[in-house]
Amino acid sequence: MTDLLPSWLLLTYVGLLGAVVGSYLNVLVWRLPREQSTTRPRSACPSCGHAIRWFDNVPVLSWLVLRGRCRDCGTRISVRYPLVEAGVAVLFVALVVLLGPRLSVLSLLAVLALAGGGVAMSLIDLEHHRLPDKLTAATSVLVLLPIVAEALLTGSWSRLLTATVAAVALFVLYLGAAVVYPGGMGGGDIKLAPLLGFVLGWFGLPHAVVGAFAPFLLGVVAVLVLAVRGRVRKGSGVPFGPFMLAGTFAALLWAPAVAHWYLEVAGLA
Ligand SMILES: [Zn+2]
Repeated sequence: MTDLLPSWLLLTYVGLLGAVVGSYLNVLVWRLPREQSTTRPRSACPSCGHAIRWFDNVPVLSWLVLRGRCRDCGTRISVRYPLVEAGVAVLFVALVVLLGPRLSVLSLLAVLALAGGGVAMSLIDLEHHRLPDKLTAATSVLVLLPIVAEALLTGSWSRLLTATVAAVALFVLYLGAAVVYPGGMGGGDIKLAPLLGFVLGWFGLPHAVVGAFAPFLLGVVAVLVLAVRGRVRKGSGVPFGPFMLAGTFAALLWAPAVAHWYLEVAGLA
């Protein structure tokens, strides 16, 4: 990362950006699964239909000022909205703090785009058990643009090649998993896999390897935890998208450490 700005100011901007992105993701998460336009009409109270005034649409703050109620009819507004806004703000700041020192601005933008899209995907998948194609496509464009731009600007052809190979590899892996275990993997997961593979591959081979297996590891742990608590019913599919995304981000953050540890354990380093 460049140090154009003092870090506290930069992180403040990143946090504000996250809150605004989170606010838009709330709209996406509500409207996309219901096949509604994500830009029109303006947000309205689902109870009384009154359009939400701009000053009542400030992330987190408006909800606090209104004490979680519609200004017009007093209907409760779910605490989920400010939580998503604050959550994305914290996530963006955390990613910039943790990954900023070892990434270019363009790569960091790609990671933030994947994080934002990933939050929307996870919320929709948890609630509706599917990943809308539109969301995967839009996220893919927003993630790929900065990465391809960086490859062109810096001539990083080998990294671009690794990214492409990893994208194909993860697509094949998930396609295979869907064939072997049809109940577990959905079409949305298979379509998301190449995007995650591409980002992981762009970061390097250790990331791609760790990122390919981390989701399955996390998924197994989650199913065991749920089983122990008696929460798994037969036939109730656990949505896998959130695990794919969590595994990818775990790999982006910690793959070098995992690879180093593995080589040490194997006596190779
Ligand atoms: Zn209302």
